[in-house]
Amino acid sequence: MKASKMLAPTLREVPADAEISSHKLMLRAGMMRKVASGVYTYLPLAWRSIKKIENIIREEMDNKGGQELLMPAVQPAEIWQESGRWGVYGAELWRVKDRNGRDFCLGPTHEELISVTFRNDVRSYKQLPQMLYQIQTKYRDERRPRFGLMRSREFIMKDLYSFDADEAGLSVSYDMMYDAYSRVFSRCGLDFRPVEADSGAIGGKGSHEFMALAEAGESAILYCDTCDYAATDEIAGRDPLPVAAEEMLAIEKVDTPNCASVEEVAAFLNVPTNRIVKTMYYKADEELVVVLIRGDRTINEIKLQGLLGCNELMLADNADIEQGGSKVGYLGPIGIEGVKIYADAEVPLMYNVIVGANDGERHLLNVNYQRGDFKIDQVADLRYLEEGEQCPHCHGHLKMARGIEVGQIFKLHTKYSESLHVYYTGEDGVERPVVMGCYGIGVGRTLAAVIEQSHDDDGIIWPMAVAPYQVVVIPVNDREEELVQAAGKVYDELTAAGIEVVLDDRGERAGVKFKDADLIGYPVRVTVGAKSLARGNVEVKIRKTGEMLEVPVAEIAGWISDYVKAEMAAK
Ligand code: ATP
Ligand code: MG
Repeated sequence: MKASKMLAPTLREVPADAEISSHKLMLRAGMMRKVASGVYTYLPLAWRSIKKIENIIREEMDNKGGQELLMPAVQPAEIWQESGRWGVYGAELWRVKDRNGRDFCLGPTHEELISVTFRNDVRSYKQLPQMLYQIQTKYRDERRPRFGLMRSREFIMKDLYSFDADEAGLSVSYDMMYDAYSRVFSRCGLDFRPVEADSGAIGGKGSHEFMALAEAGESAILYCDTCDYAATDEIAGRDPLPVAAEEMLAIEKVDTPNCASVEEVAAFLNVPTNRIVKTMYYKADEELVVVLIRGDRTINEIKLQGLLGCNELMLADNADIEQGGSKVGYLGPIGIEGVKIYADAEVPLMYNVIVGANDGERHLLNVNYQRGDFKIDQVADLRYLEEGEQCPHCHGHLKMARGIEVGQIFKLHTKYSESLHVYYTGEDGVERPVVMGCYGIGVGRTLAAVIEQSHDDDGIIWPMAVAPYQVVVIPVNDREEELVQAAGKVYDELTAAGIEVVLDDRGERAGVKFKDADLIGYPVRVTVGAKSLARGNVEVKIRKTGEMLEVPVAEIAGWISDYVKAEMAAK
């Protein structure tokens, strides 16, 4: 490829609306352009990298017996109504109507469509197991599209669906995909961790997210400093640690003026926040519920929603709560009637706690659940774990890191096969629901994660396997015929050797070409300059280390072929 004819419009300025490095760099390196919020054109450089990632994914899916197919983005509403998700998916589901007013959606995922595809054509246990996948464009009308390809509204996903006769088969398929995903992300050069995850709207129990570690990541993960426990903060949990017994003292009501927050109450009463129990009111699908949690803890609304099984969960309005003498900031569990009380697992073990008095600006001291001072309808793990806490599996301690969710795998069990009637006939002649799994990789998000992990102030540092091109050849002066000819020859030889190479023939100054080479991040730069050429050499610069060396012109194709091969094998 000649740079003069390549659409790679690099920018010197940092685009104003890009917040994170990968987004800025993809715009600056001329890899993509915004069309609308969360909708992008992939320019040729990005598209080359995307295709490489897709091919890595294809190889690993095929290795596990995956069969590639392609389903449409447009899906009829009926199949979503059949699964029950048309009503619950919410505003993220991109709904469209055809000219006759019929409802469709642009698929955010394809469980429904693959299920109806499968149910019509597969009948017997003899046809199981199967794994079907596609690499296809998804649509999610995200509330906050941001960070470029990281969270867009139109994006490319690889989605694979497994179909097994029973749970044991699903476990085998799931483990195969776990392995395939680990291989995909290693080959893309990512530093990642598989973590236990919530199965969210997709449903079913048993899920892992593959997290590329990066400060800019939107997810938090907790991992043990001793064993291999790792989970998203959404599901990380542990049994409460034992509490030393205390003598239960008599309840006392005290004035706590102008102390509406836990911190203010603790400061006013001169106690640590972990002696306080917070009383929070939520609205779960219109039903008011109370949640009790230790003062220094944070309620995990994902766990709470899972426990309540509601579609919508939000903090209650003050008007719903402030009745009688109750005031927000001074709420407590004693005397609550007609509202279910849920408590985090630590709460019933605590002694002599401080709670709001439901009586103006007052709190109660020395309240004890164990004495029957208040009731709890259900106890559950409802909080976020925190950094430094003891690991749920061993005596190690938890550390926290940020991650980009590049992939997720789920055991769906029979959730969709039952609602969408995907049944097979077993060897014994009995009809049973097929046991399913689903497995997604965000292709564009993976690309963005690679850049997020691998860049410096000058630009992108591509792992060889996903670099748009492997080498750039730069004649330092396009007006010196000898250099132009020598560079052209190196370019031809590299091309003939099967190397993916760009010749920077743009007639720009050498400094501009060097800056763009670093920005675009070619793993190897070959510079053809008068001085080294006089010695019969060209200069090679390795992008990731900054190392410079001279290689004889006669040996350059062999040298680069060896280097590229070694780099491809390295990860
Ligand atoms: P998130 O929690 O980040 O919204 P998700 O859990 O809803 O993602 P999945 O349904 O698990 O996403 O989709 C599979 C993969 O598709 C994700 O792991 C991610 O890599 C990618 N993905 C999901 N949403 C987007 C998006 N809006 N833009 C780009 N990639 C996405
Ligand atoms: Mg996910």
